[in-house]
Amino acid sequence: AMTPPDTSILAPFPRGNLNEAESKALFARFGVPVTREQTASDAAAAAAAARDMGGEVVLKILSRAIAHKSDLGGVRVGLTAEQIPDACAAMLQSLRAAGAPAPEGFLVQERIRGGVEMILGFHRDPQLGPVILLGSGGVAAELFEDTALRLLPITRTDAEAMVEELKAARLLRGFRGAPPADIPALVDTVLAFAAMAGAAGERLLEAEINPLFVLPAGQGAYAVDGLAVLR
Ligand code: ADP
Ligand code: MG
Repeated sequence: AMTPPDTSILAPFPRGNLNEAESKALFARFGVPVTREQTASDAAAAAAAARDMGGEVVLKILSRAIAHKSDLGGVRVGLTAEQIPDACAAMLQSLRAAGAPAPEGFLVQERIRGGVEMILGFHRDPQLGPVILLGSGGVAAELFEDTALRLLPITRTDAEAMVEELKAARLLRGFRGAPPADIPALVDTVLAFAAMAGAAGERLLEAEINPLFVLPAGQGAYAVDGLAVLR
């Protein structure tokens, strides 16, 4: 907890939003498990990355300027390598139609199946200070307010209590025949994310993982999307 902030990690990046790959690379340096993925500068490179990965992949637009990729047709789940070139062309077309700036490229990543979708966030509250938030993600997040907040730093006991105070705790423990989720992996991820927020220094304004997929017990938790905002 007394480790001095490692501000050099953020030094290469300009002010504003990092793209998904940059954000998750930052999170991963602090032990947050993220999807296997590869950036690609064009459609041919994206198709090659998908062939390397094998099976069905997820294709996303890679852009610091776009925080909500699916709003602009920038996320396709479950593509084969053969489908990548057309999907890339369609993504670029939909960006142009929306008047968005040219993206940095594409992101090809493994598809995560099953699990409970959560949100893990960090921001600097003007009154409270640095705050970490854990909540239900996906459809559940839109249906009911279900979040737990803590001031940093937090202990493992705090992270466990955050999970327990959520309505989603029932879902995570295994609801109506669904398998119990990997709650220890979720707690580890909350702690790693909180440590990252503490260590990255004052330039880190906000960070969010939405969604974090919590898989069945023993299978881990994975950040599927990530956004870090610098000042
Ligand atoms: P957005 O910028 O629109 O939030 P996301 O990266 O969060 O884009 O993707 C939108 C949705 O697509 C996610 O909420 C998730 O349901 C699904 N998704 C994204 N990436 C994956 C993945 N690697 N595996 C499985 N589902 C995914
Ligand atoms: Mg998202």
